[in-house]
Amino acid sequence: MLADLHTHSTASDGILSPYELVKLAKARNLAAIAITDHDTVDGLSEGLEAGKQLGITVVPGIELSTQVGNWEIHILGYFIDYSDGKLNATLEKYTAARLRRGEVIIQKLKELGIYLDWESILNRHGEGSVGRPHIARALMANGYVDSIEEAFHKYLNPGTPAFVPRLKLEPFEAIKMIRSAFGIPVLAHPGLLHSSNLIDQLISSGLMGIEVYYPLHTPSQVQYYSYLCKKNGLVPTGGSDFHGIGTSSKKTIGLSTVDYEVVEKLKKLKKQNNQL
Ligand code: AMP
Ligand code: FE
Ligand code: FE
Ligand code: ZN
Repeated sequence: MLADLHTHSTASDGILSPYELVKLAKARNLAAIAITDHDTVDGLSEGLEAGKQLGITVVPGIELSTQVGNWEIHILGYFIDYSDGKLNATLEKYTAARLRRGEVIIQKLKELGIYLDWESILNRHGEGSVGRPHIARALMANGYVDSIEEAFHKYLNPGTPAFVPRLKLEPFEAIKMIRSAFGIPVLAHPGLLHSSNLIDQLISSGLMGIEVYYPLHTPSQVQYYSYLCKKNGLVPTGGSDFHGIGTSSKKTIGLSTVDYEVVEKLKKLKKQNNQL
């Protein structure tokens, strides 16, 4: 009974619709998946409905993009009340900022002699939160680069000419947002962080879990983050960060999983949060 607790759908930068994602998880014999789109809950009602139809547990989730200085820190939120008014109002502010940022990136690319049609990128994307991967895919589709990696490397990473930062959100704020929507905040892929000093501060701010199992984590990182969880009474979670077939061979659905028991643990914590 395995659960993949980190996946993306077309509500953010995934390739599969929430329904298709859940269907694939079922076909791969997973007992549960969490849909954790970047900064949006737009895919969750479709995903949960698909779960009911197909007979697989779908955990409502989110992955909030935050920064401290120039460092990216992603905070997962599990079992959030995704219809919570305050949460949705805050998320709308961030998705609107992502739309404006996308336009600025397109403008910067134009100044470099690269012409992409923002409207058609948005039309293809639909609802939810739009990000650099959508622009990377358009760069590739229009023959400006040969790979997504090249798109990021040449134009979209910090320090490259078309980079535009997102609207700032601190990880501490993200933890509060998730807790106030009765969700469980979990630090995503800590192995990609540049410093681990921050983890203690996140724990004091209400972090409740760490994503220990992740395709890019080394065995010694897995060991270290499991130890941190034990020491601090946090839930060790795990997931593949799947974005769709063909997007990254390393992040295939089901590549990193946890036992279904972890889903039960998160659910129990949610009940406790609700009673606070
Ligand atoms: P954004 O939230 O718009 O800043 O885009 C961040 C997302 O882009 C991440 O969550 C990844 O899905 C993707 N991403 C970031 N860096 C790269 C990269 N070098 N190659 C491929 N995808 C990337
Ligand atoms: Fe992504
Ligand atoms: Fe992430
Ligand atoms: Zn992710």
